[in-house]
Amino acid sequence: MRIYFDNASTTPIYNEVLECMNDISLKCFGNPSSIHQYGRKARVIVEDARTSICNYLKALPAQLFFTSGGTEANNTVINSCITYLNTKHIITSALEHQSVLRPLQEYQKQDKVSVDLVKTDSKGRINLKHLEELIKNKSNVLVMLMHANNEIGNLLPVKEVSKICRKHNALLHCDMVQTIGHYNIDFNTIDVDFASASAHKFHGPKGIGLLYAKQQNAAIYPLLYGGRQERNIRAGTENVAAIAGFAKTIQLAYENLTEDQQKIASLKKQMIEQLSRINNIQFAGECQNRGHYGIVHALFPLTAKTKLLPINLDINNIAISQGSACTSGAQSQSHVIKALGIDKNISNIRISFSKFNTSDEINYFVDKLCQYI
Ligand code: PLP
Repeated sequence: MRIYFDNASTTPIYNEVLECMNDISLKCFGNPSSIHQYGRKARVIVEDARTSICNYLKALPAQLFFTSGGTEANNTVINSCITYLNTKHIITSALEHQSVLRPLQEYQKQDKVSVDLVKTDSKGRINLKHLEELIKNKSNVLVMLMHANNEIGNLLPVKEVSKICRKHNALLHCDMVQTIGHYNIDFNTIDVDFASASAHKFHGPKGIGLLYAKQQNAAIYPLLYGGRQERNIRAGTENVAAIAGFAKTIQLAYENLTEDQQKIASLKKQMIEQLSRINNIQFAGECQNRGHYGIVHALFPLTAKTKLLPINLDINNIAISQGSACTSGAQSQSHVIKALGIDKNISNIRISFSKFNTSDEINYFVDKLCQYI
């Protein structure tokens, strides 16, 4: 048996999406900026994909820009705000993805912006009072808080955060890489200035993402210069097949959204119930009773055995991770686990599900885990 429990890192692509992308790559290879028939056909595919995604997310075509993924979308927002919109202060949290934290460190080093970290508690919850204190009496503020944490699954009370931002005229960016395609996101009711998404997190192709920009309070500006693609916001020939693949993926996600959510949530419940029987196990963040329906983060006391847990599970054909895949090569503890104030003497594993996982896989996993530790 081979088990894949690392769906927050990436997911297997749907066959239908792959077929759609192959078909388009073969038949519609034109450059969407070309004026001949080949180009015009490709342009129609790009714009149809944008319109279709907009219908699901309740956004306007003018508000969606295709990017190479969540990382580029996050970096574009940061660069746009600091370089073009006169943003002087950015408020974020220590639990954000590295594609937010690392560019912020760079801009801060260059004295281009000041960065404040909002307080979070031992469960990773954002202190909203502190957020308001940080925003108050400042102007030109951008708040960057993720919708669902990719390591511990905590969900942001986005309505409350956006109320605070609106009250104090701060811009709000929300990294929705772990929620778009997983939840019924409606930009008519979620009031953010910017949001990021990535197709490979919900069974789509890698290397294609989205930047949503409301454009009521702030326009978006390019990170790369070159051609005038994406309405002059994102230079470079569009990846037509991946864009169509994104639209197909979101269509498939929304077709069975509630059913899939329920299935995955019940897998998570089963996993937590079975893991809870293990002595001294703890869970990071709010995953035990709320949070993202597909993410569990378990903590074990550090022993010679638990230290090697990820490798041992891999030898047993079970894929899990210890945090973000982007930093898994690093030796140090995950920055999220560190920010929660969790003791260094723990071994942590993130288990993240998709609709393709089964209850039998959980039984097998818990069995192997118990035998080993
Ligand atoms: N933001 C979050 C919350 C993520 O989980 C990821 C992916 O790991 C990213 C951003 C980066 O997305 P991408 O892999 O599309 O660049």
